[in-house]
Amino acid sequence: MSSALIIGSGVSGLTSAVLLAEQGWQVTVLEAHAIPGGLMQRFRRGPYWFDTGFHFITGGGPNGPFRPLAERLGILKDIQFLKHDVKSQFRIHVPNEAPVDLPTGIDESEEACCTRWPEQRDALTRFFAELRGCIAQKTWLAMLVPTNTPPPTIDPNIPVTEVLDRCGVHGLAKEVIGCLAGILAMKPEFTPMGLFSAFAGTSLAGSYRAEGGGEAIINPLVARLKEHGGKLLTNRAAARIHFDEREITAIEDVKGNQHVADLYLATCHPAEVMRLTGPGGMRPSLEERIRDLPDSDSVVLVYAALSAAPTELGRSHHFAQMKGSNDLYYLSPSNFYDEEKLPYLEAMVWISGDSVAQWRGTAKGKRPADYEAWKRAREQEILGEITKLHPSIAGTITRIWSSTPLSVYDYVRSRNGSAMGLSHNVGHIGTDPLPRRNRLKNLFFAGQNIGHPGVLGAMIEGFVIAGATVGKDLSVN
Ligand SMILES: Cc1cc2nc3c(=O)[nH]c(=O)nc-3n(C[C@H](O)[C@H](O)[C@H](O)COP(=O)(O)OP(=O)(O)OC[C@H]3O[C@@H](n4cnc5c(N)ncnc54)[C@H](O)[C@@H]3O)c2cc1C
Repeated sequence: MSSALIIGSGVSGLTSAVLLAEQGWQVTVLEAHAIPGGLMQRFRRGPYWFDTGFHFITGGGPNGPFRPLAERLGILKDIQFLKHDVKSQFRIHVPNEAPVDLPTGIDESEEACCTRWPEQRDALTRFFAELRGCIAQKTWLAMLVPTNTPPPTIDPNIPVTEVLDRCGVHGLAKEVIGCLAGILAMKPEFTPMGLFSAFAGTSLAGSYRAEGGGEAIINPLVARLKEHGGKLLTNRAAARIHFDEREITAIEDVKGNQHVADLYLATCHPAEVMRLTGPGGMRPSLEERIRDLPDSDSVVLVYAALSAAPTELGRSHHFAQMKGSNDLYYLSPSNFYDEEKLPYLEAMVWISGDSVAQWRGTAKGKRPADYEAWKRAREQEILGEITKLHPSIAGTITRIWSSTPLSVYDYVRSRNGSAMGLSHNVGHIGTDPLPRRNRLKNLFFAGQNIGHPGVLGAMIEGFVIAGATVGKDLSVN
């Protein structure tokens, strides 16, 4: 029997783990944290359950790519999708004008844009044709567009703003479409069109919440893993990778146990792999590249308990711009239920992990007063922006919690608390992928830290890596 040791129990690690275990492999997942899930973990404050990362599943619609993958993994039956507002799946707030509502569906969103900016209809039609062409080129996502969709005429490695310019989309229309890059913690001027098409495409096609948040996906994956005889070891960070000339000989965990397997998958940040191997685990050129590549942005997330349901937010995902052109994303998860729930909202802004550089190395629960003051100021900025747009929420905020890049680092050990691993910008791994294997031939890099981000992206990653390992397409039974 072949065996695999997987570092990390995020979506990507668990997806590969379930598939390999189901193929008869002996699988062990080592997880540093006390609970599995990586960025899909939830945490509790009083009567509230909040999500660390998860807000919606892109491509989660009835005809989207997420459901067949979840079905194949045996977890679809466990996920209850929550209804969103199909006419206003995304509400984008723009200064001094009515918000722009993007409905569910790529065609519907195109039509909404053409209705809002009729003078740009031809340009928008050109842009959406390029978007569909790029989506259709990705086998996993091709089901979102008609099979005879022509390929794009533009290079998918150029930034989305350049594609919008070439198509003639300008002004507010360009800003509104470009802001969808924010779903990826990216800016449109740096986001390769190919990556944008995957994200914007799957988001527009249907971005569903799930009852129970990230755990709704993680817990059933863990259950399937165990049913197939796999093991998940939490509070067991990989502490050292032992290797000889060309391959890993064992991975040692924090408790000093040595784990030996035929194959090792690392879904953690590649800088963490470098730390675990020490010098010589990768070719010097790759070590240098990982050191030099910037990380994706990190995040400040604010959770606010409310005394009344924020009905104005409806069941939409909201985007707005804050001062300094940071993208602000917010929603009220409690609004997505038919029955009454304790009302609350979640809001997030992407920021550089370096914003908290001076407090790195401080321990959770013992951070200094100036860090706490910095956090309070970010909370006020974010909630101030939301209450400016929705004054009815202002008097209803009863309690506030927040997380910062330091929290993201504590959760998943991504360098600088990066939300999506290494930067996916044009010229970084978005257009110039890192190799999945390097010096140590039984080690594969996997997961969003090096590959596709997002729940769907990380799940696809898990399928691709497990499929490559066993040498067959595991997406079909
Ligand atoms: C704030 C935020 C909001 C987001 N919102 C959405 C959203 O709404 N929709 C969406 O699709 N995506 C969203 N994402 C992205 C999505 O959460 C991620 O793309 C996905 O969860 C990544 O999964 P992964 O398995 O690749 O990585 P991770 O979840 O980072 O998993 C890596 C795992 O490796 C573990 N690990 C690290 N080092 C070690 C070690 N030495 N030993 C053992 N274990 C180790 C970590 O603890 C972690 O569990 C969001 C991300 C963030 C940060």
